[in-house]
Amino acid sequence: MRVAVYPGSFDPVTYGHLDIIERVAGLFDRVIVAVSRNPGKTPLFAVEERVDMLREVLGPYYNVEVDSFHGLTVNYAKVQGAQAIIRGLRAISDFENELMMALTNKKLEVSVETIFLMTRAEYSFISSTAVKEIAFFNGCVRDMVPSLVEERLRDKSICP
Ligand code: ADP
Repeated sequence: MRVAVYPGSFDPVTYGHLDIIERVAGLFDRVIVAVSRNPGKTPLFAVEERVDMLREVLGPYYNVEVDSFHGLTVNYAKVQGAQAIIRGLRAISDFENELMMALTNKKLEVSVETIFLMTRAEYSFISSTAVKEIAFFNGCVRDMVPSLVEERLRDKSICP
């Protein structure tokens, strides 16, 4: 069975993430979307809220599940029996950091490959950070996130 782990912050999930997930779901038998619990950036949504949003929007995909994890992504992937870690690439600016991460992960665990999918052109400008910023300043994020996420942003009182 071919298993892929798609790790990330997903704070919140956007159409850019969903496009990657949909494409990966067509390539692997089982896809695990894994919300990172590692401290770093201060998130807007708690891990549980991010997991809930992902579960709601990913309901229709029979081979996609949502989980959260703590620690090294390669260790999590190994425990899940995954052959691949999926990452999305938008601009050249993503590349340097992603290459470094992929090489580090390969050093840590040779059996797990990192596979990159290019963003779809129309989603290339979407990031969770931009979505939060736009929502915070009362801009419209309708074309960037599912309506459920728009509602949750509104619940946080940062979306009109
Ligand atoms: P992280 O903090 O791990 O980068 P993100 O939630 O920001 O978490 O992103 C998770 C993954 O999704 C990353 O590989 C990122 O490059 C990718 N991604 C984010 N937005 C898009 C998009 N619009 N199109 C394609 N991939 C994306």
